[in-house]
Amino acid sequence: MSSIEQQVSAIKVAGWQKLSLIDYPGKMAAVIFLAGCNMRCHYCHNRHIWNARQNRIPLLDILTELRGRQGWLDAVVVSGGEPTLAPDLILILLALRELGLAIKLDTNGTRPAVVRQVVSLGLVDYVALDLKAPASKHMVITGMPIDNVLATAWFLKAQKRVPYMFRTTLSPYLDENDLQEIGQKIVNGALCWQIQQCRIKGGYSMEKVQKMVDVVKCYAQYVVVRGL
Ligand code: SF4
Repeated sequence: MSSIEQQVSAIKVAGWQKLSLIDYPGKMAAVIFLAGCNMRCHYCHNRHIWNARQNRIPLLDILTELRGRQGWLDAVVVSGGEPTLAPDLILILLALRELGLAIKLDTNGTRPAVVRQVVSLGLVDYVALDLKAPASKHMVITGMPIDNVLATAWFLKAQKRVPYMFRTTLSPYLDENDLQEIGQKIVNGALCWQIQQCRIKGGYSMEKVQKMVDVVKCYAQYVVVRGL
């Protein structure tokens, strides 16, 4: 057992998906979920892991399985919940680094210092930041103010070390003006913006999503639609 594995021997996570073809652009990835989230998005599909006590699976078990897949797996995505809340995130990333897999971090952006730290230390290769609402609706949709999310967005746009994408889930509480505001005030000039259909009652139809996306596709080099 390596020194890092010894250090992570007590760490537990909420769960993992052995293979995803859609969570890391261009790569075959496993996805690890860390429980605990500080937002309360009304459309959340992961509310069963809002509480960090739901971390019950030993990380070492997953590392062992990942090692057996090293030949054909390219990457691992660290997701949640909100992974930047995990006190052991750095150790988890160091342990994953030992496997030689590319690492993507999914974040809601509320802890910009942690995102800055893991990017600066070279512990992640890709970051996906959720832009869930414009400033005026952020509290209503997520239960959190937008300030830290904006700080994370500005950091990602300014740095050159890792590629990143912004992601927006088209909640029924968002309209064309909101999407326009997110595009104009936050996304503007970014490389990639992924807009996701919200699969809850009242969510927009495929035609409507496409129409809304057509209006804002000028704000990033690549605007992609997911979930249709
Ligand atoms: S940030 Fe993600 S995990 Fe947290 S409440 Fe929102 S959708 Fe759920």
